[in-house]
Amino acid sequence: MLTTGPRGTKDILPDSSGHWQYVEKIIREVCHNFAYQEIRTPVFEHTELFLRGIGDTTDIVEKEMYTFTDRAKRSITLRPENTASAVRSYLENKLYSGPQPTKLFYIGPMFRYDRPQAGRYRQFHQFGIEAIGAEGPAIDAEVISLAVAFLNKLGLSDLKLLINSVGCPQCRPVYRAKLQEFFQDKRAHLCSDCQSRYDRNPMRILDCKNETCAKYSQGAPHMLDCLCEECGSHFAGLQELLTAAGISFVINPRLVRGLDYYTKTAFEIQYSPLGAQSAVCGGGRYDGLIAECGGQPTPGIGFAIGIERVLLALEKQALLPSINTAIDVFVAPLGTEARAVAFQLLTELRYAGIAADMDFMNRSLKAQMKYANKYPAKFVALIGEDELAAQKVMVKNMDTGSQELIARTALVPMILEEMEK
Ligand code: AMP
Repeated sequence: MLTTGPRGTKDILPDSSGHWQYVEKIIREVCHNFAYQEIRTPVFEHTELFLRGIGDTTDIVEKEMYTFTDRAKRSITLRPENTASAVRSYLENKLYSGPQPTKLFYIGPMFRYDRPQAGRYRQFHQFGIEAIGAEGPAIDAEVISLAVAFLNKLGLSDLKLLINSVGCPQCRPVYRAKLQEFFQDKRAHLCSDCQSRYDRNPMRILDCKNETCAKYSQGAPHMLDCLCEECGSHFAGLQELLTAAGISFVINPRLVRGLDYYTKTAFEIQYSPLGAQSAVCGGGRYDGLIAECGGQPTPGIGFAIGIERVLLALEKQALLPSINTAIDVFVAPLGTEARAVAFQLLTELRYAGIAADMDFMNRSLKAQMKYANKYPAKFVALIGEDELAAQKVMVKNMDTGSQELIARTALVPMILEEMEK
Protein backbone atom coordinates (compact mmCIF):
# COMPACT_ATOMS: atom_id res chain seq x y z
CA MET A 1 0.00 0.00 0.00
CA LEU A 2 2.85 2.37 0.67
CA THR A 3 3.99 2.24 -2.92
CA THR A 4 0.60 2.00 -4.63
CA GLY A 5 -1.85 4.89 -4.89
CA PRO A 6 -5.58 4.35 -4.15
CA ARG A 7 -7.60 2.71 -6.94
CA GLY A 8 -8.88 5.18 -9.51
CA THR A 9 -6.18 7.77 -8.85
CA LYS A 10 -3.33 8.68 -11.16
CA ASP A 11 -0.07 10.52 -10.69
CA ILE A 12 0.60 13.24 -13.22
CA LEU A 13 4.28 12.69 -13.82
CA PRO A 14 6.89 15.11 -15.18
CA ASP A 15 6.66 13.50 -18.63
CA SER A 16 3.01 14.55 -18.92
CA SER A 17 2.54 17.51 -16.58
CA GLY A 18 3.60 19.73 -19.49
CA HIS A 19 0.55 18.48 -21.41
CA TRP A 20 -1.69 19.48 -18.50
CA GLN A 21 -0.07 22.91 -18.41
CA TYR A 22 -0.68 23.24 -22.14
CA VAL A 23 -4.39 22.40 -21.80
CA GLU A 24 -4.70 24.73 -18.81
CA LYS A 25 -3.06 27.52 -20.80
CA ILE A 26 -5.62 27.12 -23.59
CA ILE A 27 -8.43 27.08 -20.99
CA ARG A 28 -7.18 30.38 -19.56
CA GLU A 29 -6.82 31.95 -23.01
CA VAL A 30 -10.30 30.94 -24.15
CA CYS A 31 -11.91 32.00 -20.87
CA HIS A 32 -10.17 35.35 -21.10
CA ASN A 33 -11.48 35.73 -24.67
CA PHE A 34 -15.00 35.05 -23.48
CA ALA A 35 -14.61 37.26 -20.35
CA TYR A 36 -14.95 34.48 -17.76
CA GLN A 37 -12.98 34.80 -14.53
CA GLU A 38 -11.49 32.06 -12.44
CA ILE A 39 -13.01 30.88 -9.17
CA ARG A 40 -11.25 28.45 -6.82
CA THR A 41 -13.46 26.82 -4.23
CA PRO A 42 -12.44 24.26 -1.58
CA VAL A 43 -12.26 20.59 -2.55
CA PHE A 44 -14.60 19.70 0.32
CA GLU A 45 -17.96 21.13 1.31
CA HIS A 46 -20.80 20.33 3.69
CA THR A 47 -22.44 17.13 2.43
CA GLU A 48 -25.82 18.90 2.51
CA LEU A 49 -24.73 21.19 -0.35
CA PHE A 50 -24.36 18.27 -2.73
CA LEU A 51 -27.53 16.55 -1.54
CA ARG A 52 -29.38 19.74 -2.48
CA GLY A 53 -27.24 20.91 -5.34
CA ILE A 54 -26.88 17.64 -7.26
CA GLY A 55 -30.03 15.91 -6.07
CA ASP A 56 -30.45 12.90 -3.84
CA THR A 57 -31.86 10.69 -6.58
CA THR A 58 -28.77 10.93 -8.78
CA ASP A 59 -26.12 8.22 -9.09
CA ILE A 60 -23.52 10.68 -7.87
CA VAL A 61 -25.28 11.29 -4.58
CA GLU A 62 -26.65 7.77 -4.13
CA LYS A 63 -23.50 5.83 -4.94
CA GLU A 64 -20.46 7.90 -5.69
CA MET A 65 -19.72 10.47 -3.01
CA TYR A 66 -16.65 10.41 -0.80
CA THR A 67 -18.34 11.40 2.45
CA PHE A 68 -16.83 11.32 5.91
CA THR A 69 -17.44 12.73 9.35
CA ASP A 70 -14.79 15.16 10.52
CA ARG A 71 -13.48 15.40 14.07
CA ALA A 72 -16.26 17.79 15.04
CA LYS A 73 -18.84 15.27 13.73
CA ARG A 74 -19.76 17.34 10.67
CA SER A 75 -20.59 15.46 7.49
CA ILE A 76 -18.09 16.51 4.83
CA THR A 77 -17.93 15.47 1.17
CA LEU A 78 -15.10 15.72 -1.35
CA ARG A 79 -16.67 17.62 -4.23
CA PRO A 80 -17.95 15.30 -6.97
CA GLU A 81 -18.50 18.34 -9.26
CA ASN A 82 -18.15 22.08 -8.92
CA THR A 83 -21.44 23.73 -9.86
CA ALA A 84 -22.94 23.41 -6.38
CA SER A 85 -19.77 24.86 -4.83
CA ALA A 86 -19.73 27.75 -7.33
CA VAL A 87 -23.36 28.53 -6.53
CA ARG A 88 -22.64 28.32 -2.78
CA SER A 89 -19.73 30.73 -3.22
CA TYR A 90 -21.81 33.05 -5.44
CA LEU A 91 -24.39 33.30 -2.64
CA GLU A 92 -21.93 33.43 0.27
CA ASN A 93 -19.77 36.12 -1.35
CA LYS A 94 -22.72 38.03 -2.84
CA LEU A 95 -21.28 37.87 -6.33
CA TYR A 96 -24.77 38.85 -7.53
CA SER A 97 -24.09 42.40 -6.36
CA GLY A 98 -21.36 42.79 -9.03
CA PRO A 99 -21.96 43.31 -12.77
CA GLN A 100 -24.23 40.62 -14.17
CA PRO A 101 -24.15 37.95 -15.42
CA THR A 102 -21.53 36.47 -13.12
CA LYS A 103 -19.21 34.54 -15.45
CA LEU A 104 -16.92 32.05 -13.72
CA PHE A 105 -14.56 29.28 -14.74
CA TYR A 106 -12.77 26.67 -12.67
CA ILE A 107 -10.16 23.96 -13.09
CA GLY A 108 -9.63 21.31 -10.45
CA PRO A 109 -9.92 17.80 -9.09
CA MET A 110 -13.31 16.14 -8.48
CA PHE A 111 -13.95 12.91 -6.60
CA ARG A 112 -16.42 10.15 -7.40
CA TYR A 113 -16.48 6.57 -6.20
CA ASP A 114 -16.98 5.32 -9.76
CA ARG A 115 -15.84 2.04 -11.33
CA PRO A 116 -12.41 2.93 -12.71
CA GLN A 117 -11.62 2.23 -16.37
CA ALA A 118 -9.97 4.04 -19.26
CA GLY A 119 -11.23 7.62 -19.11
CA ARG A 120 -12.97 7.11 -15.77
CA TYR A 121 -11.24 7.73 -12.47
CA ARG A 122 -12.07 8.33 -8.83
CA GLN A 123 -10.05 11.51 -8.74
CA PHE A 124 -10.39 13.29 -12.07
CA HIS A 125 -10.17 16.88 -13.21
CA GLN A 126 -12.74 19.16 -14.70
CA PHE A 127 -12.61 22.48 -16.45
CA GLY A 128 -16.01 24.11 -16.19
CA ILE A 129 -17.79 27.41 -16.48
CA GLU A 130 -20.89 28.88 -14.87
CA ALA A 131 -22.83 31.89 -16.17
CA ILE A 132 -25.23 33.02 -13.47
CA GLY A 133 -27.91 35.68 -13.80
CA ALA A 134 -28.93 35.73 -17.48
CA GLU A 135 -32.02 33.96 -18.73
CA GLY A 136 -32.21 34.40 -22.52
CA PRO A 137 -30.87 31.79 -24.98
CA ALA A 138 -27.91 34.01 -25.97
CA ILE A 139 -25.99 33.05 -22.84
CA ASP A 140 -26.73 29.37 -23.55
CA ALA A 141 -25.23 29.86 -27.01
CA GLU A 142 -22.22 31.61 -25.50
CA VAL A 143 -21.60 28.80 -23.01
CA ILE A 144 -21.80 26.17 -25.76
CA SER A 145 -19.65 28.27 -28.06
CA LEU A 146 -16.95 28.53 -25.36
CA ALA A 147 -16.82 24.74 -25.02
CA VAL A 148 -16.58 24.35 -28.80
CA ALA A 149 -13.95 27.11 -29.09
CA PHE A 150 -11.81 25.41 -26.43
CA LEU A 151 -11.95 21.99 -28.08
CA ASN A 152 -11.35 23.50 -31.52
CA LYS A 153 -8.39 25.52 -30.29
CA LEU A 154 -6.81 22.29 -29.12
CA GLY A 155 -7.25 21.03 -32.68
CA LEU A 156 -9.85 18.38 -31.88
CA SER A 157 -12.10 17.42 -34.74
CA ASP A 158 -14.74 14.65 -35.02
CA LEU A 159 -16.68 16.25 -32.20
CA LYS A 160 -20.43 15.92 -31.96
CA LEU A 161 -22.57 18.50 -30.16
CA LEU A 162 -25.89 17.14 -28.91
CA ILE A 163 -28.57 19.48 -27.58
CA ASN A 164 -31.98 19.07 -26.03
CA SER A 165 -34.43 20.93 -23.84
CA VAL A 166 -35.63 19.39 -20.59
CA GLY A 167 -38.38 21.96 -20.13
CA CYS A 168 -39.21 23.64 -16.84
CA PRO A 169 -41.40 23.03 -13.79
CA GLN A 170 -44.36 24.30 -15.86
CA CYS A 171 -44.18 21.80 -18.70
CA ARG A 172 -42.18 18.92 -17.26
CA PRO A 173 -44.98 17.44 -15.10
CA VAL A 174 -46.99 16.90 -18.29
CA TYR A 175 -44.07 15.07 -19.85
CA ARG A 176 -43.39 13.12 -16.68
CA ALA A 177 -46.95 11.86 -16.64
CA LYS A 178 -46.69 10.87 -20.32
CA LEU A 179 -43.45 8.99 -19.63
CA GLN A 180 -44.94 7.15 -16.67
CA GLU A 181 -47.87 6.17 -18.83
CA PHE A 182 -45.47 4.92 -21.52
CA PHE A 183 -43.38 2.86 -19.08
CA GLN A 184 -46.28 1.61 -16.97
CA ASP A 185 -46.57 -1.83 -18.55
CA LYS A 186 -42.78 -2.06 -19.20
CA ARG A 187 -41.79 -1.28 -15.67
CA ALA A 188 -41.23 -4.87 -14.56
CA HIS A 189 -38.62 -5.34 -17.34
CA LEU A 190 -36.48 -2.36 -16.34
CA CYS A 191 -33.34 -2.57 -14.20
CA SER A 192 -33.81 -2.09 -10.46
CA ASP A 193 -32.46 1.48 -10.65
CA CYS A 194 -34.99 2.37 -13.33
CA GLN A 195 -37.81 0.74 -11.42
CA SER A 196 -37.21 3.20 -8.62
CA ARG A 197 -36.59 6.01 -11.13
CA TYR A 198 -40.09 5.35 -12.49
CA ASP A 199 -41.63 7.03 -9.46
CA ARG A 200 -38.92 9.42 -8.47
CA ASN A 201 -37.33 10.53 -11.68
CA PRO A 202 -38.71 8.82 -14.81
CA MET A 203 -36.73 11.01 -17.27
CA ARG A 204 -33.55 9.33 -16.08
CA ILE A 205 -34.79 6.00 -17.48
CA LEU A 206 -34.04 7.51 -20.90
CA ASP A 207 -30.32 7.83 -20.23
CA CYS A 208 -29.90 4.47 -18.48
CA LYS A 209 -26.94 2.59 -19.97
CA ASN A 210 -28.58 -0.80 -19.41
CA GLU A 211 -29.37 -2.42 -22.79
CA THR A 212 -32.77 -3.73 -21.76
CA CYS A 213 -33.82 -0.32 -20.45
CA ALA A 214 -32.59 1.25 -23.69
CA LYS A 215 -34.65 -1.27 -25.67
CA TYR A 216 -37.81 -0.64 -23.64
CA SER A 217 -37.41 3.12 -23.84
CA GLN A 218 -37.46 3.07 -27.64
CA GLY A 219 -40.45 5.00 -28.88
CA ALA A 220 -40.83 6.89 -25.60
CA PRO A 221 -42.46 10.33 -25.91
CA HIS A 222 -40.11 13.31 -26.36
CA MET A 223 -39.87 16.26 -24.02
CA LEU A 224 -39.65 18.50 -27.07
CA ASP A 225 -43.28 17.66 -27.90
CA CYS A 226 -44.38 18.82 -24.46
CA LEU A 227 -42.45 22.10 -24.11
CA CYS A 228 -44.44 25.11 -22.94
CA GLU A 229 -44.37 28.22 -25.08
CA GLU A 230 -41.51 29.85 -23.19
CA CYS A 231 -39.29 26.73 -23.24
CA GLY A 232 -40.14 26.15 -26.89
CA SER A 233 -39.12 29.65 -27.94
CA HIS A 234 -35.97 29.47 -25.77
CA PHE A 235 -34.94 26.26 -27.53
CA ALA A 236 -35.75 27.71 -30.97
CA GLY A 237 -33.75 30.83 -30.06
CA LEU A 238 -30.75 28.73 -29.06
CA GLN A 239 -30.81 26.81 -32.34
CA GLU A 240 -31.03 30.04 -34.29
CA LEU A 241 -28.02 31.49 -32.47
CA LEU A 242 -25.91 28.35 -32.87
CA THR A 243 -26.74 28.19 -36.56
CA ALA A 244 -25.88 31.87 -37.01
CA ALA A 245 -22.52 31.26 -35.31
CA GLY A 246 -21.80 28.29 -37.57
CA ILE A 247 -21.84 25.78 -34.69
CA SER A 248 -23.31 22.51 -35.91
CA PHE A 249 -25.44 20.44 -33.56
CA VAL A 250 -27.73 17.44 -33.44
CA ILE A 251 -30.92 17.40 -31.38
CA ASN A 252 -30.96 14.37 -29.09
CA PRO A 253 -34.25 13.99 -27.21
CA ARG A 254 -32.64 11.37 -24.92
CA LEU A 255 -30.30 13.87 -23.36
CA VAL A 256 -31.91 14.39 -19.98
CA ARG A 257 -31.23 15.56 -16.48
CA GLY A 258 -34.28 14.65 -14.52
CA LEU A 259 -34.13 17.04 -11.58
CA ASP A 260 -36.49 19.92 -11.10
CA TYR A 261 -33.84 22.59 -10.99
CA TYR A 262 -32.36 21.58 -14.33
CA THR A 263 -34.29 23.50 -16.91
CA LYS A 264 -34.42 24.12 -20.65
CA THR A 265 -31.07 23.60 -22.39
CA ALA A 266 -29.12 20.36 -21.86
CA PHE A 267 -26.09 19.59 -24.02
CA GLU A 268 -23.23 17.19 -24.41
CA ILE A 269 -20.15 17.07 -26.61
CA GLN A 270 -18.95 13.63 -27.66
CA TYR A 271 -15.70 12.47 -29.12
CA SER A 272 -16.58 9.01 -30.40
CA PRO A 273 -13.03 7.56 -30.72
CA LEU A 274 -13.01 7.47 -26.90
CA GLY A 275 -15.54 4.61 -27.03
CA ALA A 276 -17.56 3.99 -23.88
CA GLN A 277 -16.34 7.21 -22.26
CA SER A 278 -17.03 9.36 -25.31
CA ALA A 279 -18.60 12.28 -23.42
CA VAL A 280 -16.00 15.00 -23.04
CA CYS A 281 -18.37 17.79 -22.04
CA GLY A 282 -21.74 17.89 -20.29
CA GLY A 283 -23.72 20.98 -19.51
CA GLY A 284 -27.03 22.64 -19.12
CA ARG A 285 -29.24 25.25 -17.60
CA TYR A 286 -30.15 25.14 -13.90
CA ASP A 287 -32.67 27.92 -13.34
CA GLY A 288 -33.96 26.36 -10.13
CA LEU A 289 -30.61 25.60 -8.47
CA ILE A 290 -29.81 28.95 -6.90
CA ALA A 291 -33.19 29.11 -5.16
CA GLU A 292 -32.73 25.46 -4.11
CA CYS A 293 -29.48 26.51 -2.42
CA GLY A 294 -31.20 29.34 -0.56
CA GLY A 295 -30.80 32.31 -2.93
CA GLN A 296 -33.29 34.45 -4.82
CA PRO A 297 -34.61 32.68 -7.93
CA THR A 298 -31.77 33.27 -10.41
CA PRO A 299 -31.13 31.62 -13.78
CA GLY A 300 -27.81 29.91 -14.52
CA ILE A 301 -26.09 27.69 -17.05
CA GLY A 302 -22.74 25.92 -17.23
CA PHE A 303 -20.75 22.93 -18.39
CA ALA A 304 -17.97 20.66 -17.21
CA ILE A 305 -15.28 19.14 -19.40
CA GLY A 306 -13.20 16.16 -18.25
CA ILE A 307 -9.54 17.08 -18.68
CA GLU A 308 -8.31 13.46 -18.66
CA ARG A 309 -10.69 12.69 -21.54
CA VAL A 310 -9.52 15.74 -23.45
CA LEU A 311 -5.93 14.58 -23.01
CA LEU A 312 -6.87 11.07 -24.19
CA ALA A 313 -8.52 12.59 -27.25
CA LEU A 314 -5.47 14.77 -27.95
CA GLU A 315 -3.24 11.71 -27.66
CA LYS A 316 -5.46 9.74 -30.06
CA GLN A 317 -5.22 12.51 -32.64
CA ALA A 318 -1.48 13.03 -32.06
CA LEU A 319 -2.13 16.62 -31.00
CA LEU A 320 -0.10 16.71 -27.82
CA PRO A 321 2.71 19.25 -28.05
CA SER A 322 6.25 18.19 -27.22
CA ILE A 323 7.25 19.19 -23.71
CA ASN A 324 9.90 21.86 -23.51
CA THR A 325 12.65 20.97 -21.04
CA ALA A 326 15.31 23.08 -22.73
CA ILE A 327 17.59 25.23 -20.59
CA ASP A 328 19.93 28.07 -21.50
CA VAL A 329 23.08 27.02 -19.69
CA PHE A 330 24.49 23.85 -18.21
CA VAL A 331 27.38 24.55 -15.85
CA ALA A 332 29.97 21.77 -15.96
CA PRO A 333 32.60 21.75 -13.19
CA LEU A 334 35.56 19.38 -13.32
CA GLY A 335 36.99 18.55 -9.91
CA THR A 336 35.93 19.38 -6.38
CA GLU A 337 37.35 22.90 -6.28
CA ALA A 338 35.52 23.95 -9.42
CA ARG A 339 32.23 22.87 -7.87
CA ALA A 340 31.89 25.84 -5.51
CA VAL A 341 32.61 28.30 -8.33
CA ALA A 342 30.17 26.42 -10.55
CA PHE A 343 27.47 26.70 -7.92
CA GLN A 344 28.16 30.41 -7.52
CA LEU A 345 27.85 30.93 -11.29
CA LEU A 346 24.73 28.77 -11.42
CA THR A 347 23.11 30.93 -8.75
CA GLU A 348 24.04 34.16 -10.57
CA LEU A 349 22.61 32.81 -13.83
CA ARG A 350 19.36 31.74 -12.21
CA TYR A 351 18.94 34.99 -10.27
CA ALA A 352 19.37 36.82 -13.59
CA GLY A 353 16.38 34.91 -14.97
CA ILE A 354 18.40 32.45 -17.04
CA ALA A 355 17.30 28.79 -17.03
CA ALA A 356 20.34 26.90 -15.81
CA ASP A 357 21.41 23.66 -14.18
CA MET A 358 24.67 21.96 -13.23
CA ASP A 359 26.07 18.52 -12.60
CA PHE A 360 25.32 17.20 -9.12
CA MET A 361 26.53 13.65 -9.73
CA ASN A 362 30.30 14.07 -10.22
CA ARG A 363 30.07 13.00 -13.83
CA SER A 364 33.02 12.90 -16.17
CA LEU A 365 33.32 15.67 -18.77
CA LYS A 366 31.99 13.36 -21.48
CA ALA A 367 29.00 12.31 -19.39
CA GLN A 368 28.27 15.95 -18.51
CA MET A 369 28.23 16.95 -22.17
CA LYS A 370 25.90 14.07 -22.95
CA TYR A 371 23.65 15.05 -20.06
CA ALA A 372 23.60 18.71 -21.19
CA ASN A 373 22.36 17.56 -24.59
CA LYS A 374 19.39 15.81 -23.07
CA TYR A 375 17.63 19.00 -21.88
CA PRO A 376 18.90 20.27 -24.38
CA ALA A 377 21.08 23.11 -23.07
CA LYS A 378 21.99 25.95 -25.46
CA PHE A 379 25.35 26.57 -23.79
CA VAL A 380 27.69 24.61 -21.57
CA ALA A 381 29.86 26.66 -19.18
CA LEU A 382 32.88 24.53 -18.43
CA ILE A 383 35.15 25.11 -15.44
CA GLY A 384 38.24 22.90 -15.43
CA GLU A 385 41.56 23.42 -13.62
CA ASP A 386 42.88 26.04 -16.08
CA GLU A 387 39.65 28.03 -16.10
CA LEU A 388 39.56 27.91 -12.31
CA ALA A 389 43.08 29.30 -11.97
CA ALA A 390 42.45 32.06 -14.53
CA GLN A 391 39.02 32.98 -13.14
CA LYS A 392 37.60 32.18 -16.53
CA VAL A 393 34.97 29.93 -17.98
CA MET A 394 34.86 28.10 -21.32
CA VAL A 395 31.51 28.65 -22.99
CA LYS A 396 30.46 26.16 -25.62
CA ASN A 397 27.58 26.88 -27.97
CA MET A 398 25.92 23.49 -28.29
CA ASP A 399 24.22 24.34 -31.60
CA THR A 400 27.31 25.52 -33.48
CA GLY A 401 29.98 23.72 -31.45
CA SER A 402 32.03 26.95 -31.18
CA GLN A 403 33.87 27.66 -27.91
CA GLU A 404 34.95 30.88 -26.26
CA LEU A 405 37.05 31.47 -23.14
CA ILE A 406 35.61 34.42 -21.21
CA ALA A 407 35.98 36.03 -17.78
CA ARG A 408 33.68 34.49 -15.15
CA THR A 409 32.04 37.87 -14.60
CA ALA A 410 31.23 38.08 -18.32
CA LEU A 411 29.12 34.91 -18.33
CA VAL A 412 25.79 36.36 -17.22
CA PRO A 413 25.95 39.44 -19.54
CA MET A 414 26.99 37.23 -22.45
CA ILE A 415 24.10 34.77 -21.98
CA LEU A 416 21.62 37.63 -21.50
CA GLU A 417 22.83 39.12 -24.77
CA GLU A 418 22.50 35.76 -26.50
CA MET A 419 18.96 35.37 -25.20
CA GLU A 420 17.99 38.73 -26.72
CA LYS A 421 19.06 37.59 -30.20
P1 AMP B 1 -20.65 15.36 -15.39
O1 AMP B 1 -20.21 16.27 -14.27
O2 AMP B 1 -21.00 13.97 -14.92
O3 AMP B 1 -21.68 15.99 -16.28
O4 AMP B 1 -19.36 15.14 -16.29
C1 AMP B 1 -18.80 16.14 -17.09
C2 AMP B 1 -17.56 15.58 -17.75
O5 AMP B 1 -16.60 15.21 -16.74
C3 AMP B 1 -17.79 14.30 -18.52
O6 AMP B 1 -18.20 14.60 -19.83
C4 AMP B 1 -16.42 13.68 -18.49
O7 AMP B 1 -15.60 14.24 -19.50
C5 AMP B 1 -15.88 14.08 -17.14
N1 AMP B 1 -16.04 13.01 -16.14
C6 AMP B 1 -17.13 12.73 -15.39
N2 AMP B 1 -16.90 11.70 -14.56
C7 AMP B 1 -15.62 11.32 -14.77
C8 AMP B 1 -14.75 10.33 -14.20
N3 AMP B 1 -15.17 9.50 -13.23
N4 AMP B 1 -13.48 10.23 -14.67
C9 AMP B 1 -13.05 11.05 -15.65
N5 AMP B 1 -13.81 12.01 -16.21
C10 AMP B 1 -15.07 12.15 -15.78
